[in-house]
Amino acid sequence: MRRVKTASNRLFTNCTVIDGRGGEPIADAHVLVSGDSIRRVAIGPFNGAASGAEVWDLQGGFLLPGFCSTHVHLGDVWPLPELVDEPAAQRAIRAGSNAMDALRCGITSMRSLGEDRFIDVAWREAFEKGISIGPTIVASGNPLIAPGGHAKFMSRNLEVKGPGALRRAVEYQIERGVDCIKLVTTAGEALDEGQSFGQLQFTSEEVRAVVDTAHAAGKFVCTHTGTTEGVLQAVDAGVDCIEHGYVMNQTAVDALVANGVFLTPTLTVTHNEAYFEKVGMPEAQRERFRRLRDRHAESFRRAYRSGVQIVCGADLNPVGYCTLSEIEWMVRLGMTTSDALVAATDTSARTNGIARERGTIEVGKKADLVVLNGNPLDDIGHIWNAELVVKSGRPVGMDRSESKADLWDVLLSCGQTGIEAGAK
Ligand SMILES: [Zn+2]
Repeated sequence: MRRVKTASNRLFTNCTVIDGRGGEPIADAHVLVSGDSIRRVAIGPFNGAASGAEVWDLQGGFLLPGFCSTHVHLGDVWPLPELVDEPAAQRAIRAGSNAMDALRCGITSMRSLGEDRFIDVAWREAFEKGISIGPTIVASGNPLIAPGGHAKFMSRNLEVKGPGALRRAVEYQIERGVDCIKLVTTAGEALDEGQSFGQLQFTSEEVRAVVDTAHAAGKFVCTHTGTTEGVLQAVDAGVDCIEHGYVMNQTAVDALVANGVFLTPTLTVTHNEAYFEKVGMPEAQRERFRRLRDRHAESFRRAYRSGVQIVCGADLNPVGYCTLSEIEWMVRLGMTTSDALVAATDTSARTNGIARERGTIEVGKKADLVVLNGNPLDDIGHIWNAELVVKSGRPVGMDRSESKADLWDVLLSCGQTGIEAGAK
């Protein structure tokens, strides 16, 4: 068998660069990648052959930084995220397939905000070692919830009470290799029958215990927080990123701005009816999401108008489809296409703690790139058609026919099994 040596220098030429920082696109540009990093971004032709680079003519395409999600659960299956008696290995395999499928959709980095048995840490390591080409994963391990709290039926959620126990739980997660901590501070949404919406789950002392322990170890904290009261408690305790923020008044939004706290709005959760339909979400569950929808949209618009650092994460699976859906929903609800692209690249990389290396097209950064054949600034719909994805300098195999299983089919068949098991 003949072994083909892979090029270490690649020149991407004849393209428009949208660098992820929100400035004017750079037309007629080229980007030189050496090994895993960007070495040159400039206008006009460049003699790549003379530099020994493999030349990729992008034929007038648009070159962007890879998209970055701030909120995924790689092993979950909707509409019933918990499968009864599922072997851990099966969940682990599905999680990896989900991550690799997302990479082919252009999502080159993601933050896992709740996974069972440190499956997210394991895939992070596997991709970093190069066992497969996968996205950069920032892992949180198990979410910490109050006893009987939000989504208590899911085995990935750890029920903890009291500042001392919470401190120990954070330390345990860190020992197991997580990059950040996920804490659920409010409940009462679609998964929580019988709990009133927005109910605070922890005392302020408890939230502070989590934040202080995490920060002391150099880790950041993201909280599932649905309401104004929860946002004010979390911001006061020093939380780094708020997830959801379904219902927030101006006071809550002002607190986010004043403290530089990021917000992942997860608009897909309440807005994407086509998704609900596709996964066969039960009507009662859809209705609970719908009831939040208008207030959620209003909170998002208020946050955007006020200058909150908004980031992009959809919470649902498959990660590839749902992350692109989230970018589209941000635009549908009033964000400019330019701001949505910055939110889904640079700002998301910053909240994920990886912006030193990723999130923009700049000299010195890792080459995480997406090529689109139409201008997403004119029509955000072009994000759905990634022609090419480059991960740390290496082009990713885009041919889905390599694998016989379609991820949607895998997820939908799991969902069906879950519904049957749940109905028994
Ligand atoms: Zn979530």
